[in-house]
Amino acid sequence: MMRKIYFVLVLCISSTFSFAQKINKIINAKEVEKIEKVLAADDMHGRKTFSADIDRAANFIAGEFAKSKLQYFNGSNSYLQPFEMIKAKPVLIEGLLDDEALNENNVAAISTSEEININGLQGFDIITVKPGDDFPKKVFPVFDLNKNVVVLVDTSFAKRFKSMQRFAGNAKFKSEVSQIFILTKNSNPSKINLHIKNELTLQHLQNVVGVLPGKSKKEEYVVFSGHYDHLGIGKPDARGDSIFNGANDDAAGTTAVIMLAKYFSKLKDNERTLVFVAFTAEEIGGFGSRYFSKQLNPDQVSAMFNIEMIGTESKWGPNSAYITGFEKSDFGKILQSNLTGSQFHFEPDPYPSQNLFYRSDNATLAELGVPAHTISTSKMDNEPNYHKQSDEISTLNMKNMAEIIKAIAISSHTIVAGTQTPTRVQKAL
Ligand SMILES: [Zn+2]
Repeated sequence: MMRKIYFVLVLCISSTFSFAQKINKIINAKEVEKIEKVLAADDMHGRKTFSADIDRAANFIAGEFAKSKLQYFNGSNSYLQPFEMIKAKPVLIEGLLDDEALNENNVAAISTSEEININGLQGFDIITVKPGDDFPKKVFPVFDLNKNVVVLVDTSFAKRFKSMQRFAGNAKFKSEVSQIFILTKNSNPSKINLHIKNELTLQHLQNVVGVLPGKSKKEEYVVFSGHYDHLGIGKPDARGDSIFNGANDDAAGTTAVIMLAKYFSKLKDNERTLVFVAFTAEEIGGFGSRYFSKQLNPDQVSAMFNIEMIGTESKWGPNSAYITGFEKSDFGKILQSNLTGSQFHFEPDPYPSQNLFYRSDNATLAELGVPAHTISTSKMDNEPNYHKQSDEISTLNMKNMAEIIKAIAISSHTIVAGTQTPTRVQKAL
């Protein structure tokens, strides 16, 4: 008996020791910096969605996934997960709302159709935004309606309407329905006649996805993600710097995803299938994660670790990070308990009024019920380089970043092993 205990004890200690050695060898400040340096370099020109620069970043990430010998996702023949969006530019807007002339000044069409013809109000739902209404509350849900809608916006919202027109010019997923916004004093028209012609342009973009199949629970996924797009090039700041490097936002999260892929592919003991994703187009509306969420069954996703801005120290100092939407599932509690006895701690998001849970790539899968949370250290009330040209690699703490990535690796182990499953988040609809 004694001997057996002794043997088990020795085995335990030696395996813990070699495990610690192993993780430090794979995830450390030097390795983290190597990846960060490439993604946040000036020659990536800020990895703007729809630019050629971001495609170079995608190819680099794919190359790192290849080094980890990840498999392709969903029968693809590449780590790149390409998709398309459509940009519609109105070349003709003419019509009448009762006696009022309609034109490019008072009409904004959220649409991917080449041509829109409205004669009378049949087939269209009418929504009116009256003076004093809460504009976002009334209008934002309209975008999620899978219906043809005419929104009559009172002229007191002229400024809001201008931003709707700008928004209408952005790239969108192809849709069969259109939402037409009309700026008018008329909230009860008896007839409408509107003809719109759009010039359509296809825009190409891509996520990068790699897979480590599970040993036994192949059909259960654990997703590790970060977004690799950023803001591109803008006007020069006071230092004359015009490149938004996005070293922290979110080259840091992307680096974490690459490091975790390296780590788990060396470990090779995951019972659940691990999916590593670098999302595109987060900064312009989370389109990469929205597309990705439609390429799998969300019920099969046991958990999602989305990683955003972990390059600076959190408000609690080194060896700590926060988890958004902490109270929405027991994901955070599982991570915390797996770190018991370590010097690292995860905390609930300390900036609840900022709605961070809904502001990153975890949101789409979370709305579908997945315990999908974002892990971050960004001091959202005081992060001097956030969305600035000065978000450079020199402002990041590589050692702390490595500690966070290791903490994610270690704290996720029971979920990866399939012995613990976080409770589901309540579905949005
Ligand atoms: Zn970000």
